[in-house]
Amino acid sequence: MSIDFSSVMRGQLEQRRDRVARAISSGGPDPQLTALLNEVDAALQRFESGTYGLCEVCHDTVEADRLISNPLERFCLDHLNICNAGHPPALLIRGGRIEPISATGLPLGMFPDQKFSIDRVKLEAGDTLLLYTDGVLETLNNTGEEYGMPRLVHITTASRSMPADRLVASCLADVTTFREGTSRFDDITMMGIRREPS
Ligand SMILES: [Zn+2]
Repeated sequence: MSIDFSSVMRGQLEQRRDRVARAISSGGPDPQLTALLNEVDAALQRFESGTYGLCEVCHDTVEADRLISNPLERFCLDHLNICNAGHPPALLIRGGRIEPISATGLPLGMFPDQKFSIDRVKLEAGDTLLLYTDGVLETLNNTGEEYGMPRLVHITTASRSMPADRLVASCLADVTTFREGTSRFDDITMMGIRREPS
């Protein structure tokens, strides 16, 4: 990690620490804010010990763009953590195979003390991970039929060698074609993460 990048990340964490500490002091103790504060402190501690930005599993550097979007990131792309709170299964596209990675918990917000477990996934070169909301599967056409998992797996298989952005565009185009202009009743969000073949 370059010195400039390191000081930017450290500055962001210190700002975040201030905001969380202020929220705790103005709103009283809050277990989730306290947990977040502990995570931010642990990240600042990693600067002190010289391990900030290193994957906790393999000790390689965590990708810079991922640290920018989440300065608390502790694992490299080789060691993705998936915590799925009631969403449909993520699809791991590996070679010609599509492997569903099932939800690890109930939907967020149903119970206050709900615990969520984490699946570890190692993305190999050429693998793609497709994440999407249930609005994709539950899209209806004008005869009231659901788009459903078999159609998503079919289009994903047909588009599997595409870069992530084109894979997502291809899936969304397939959903739109299926919908035949029927109005949407749920949001549709999709994200593809591809590890480029080396
Ligand atoms: Zn790693």
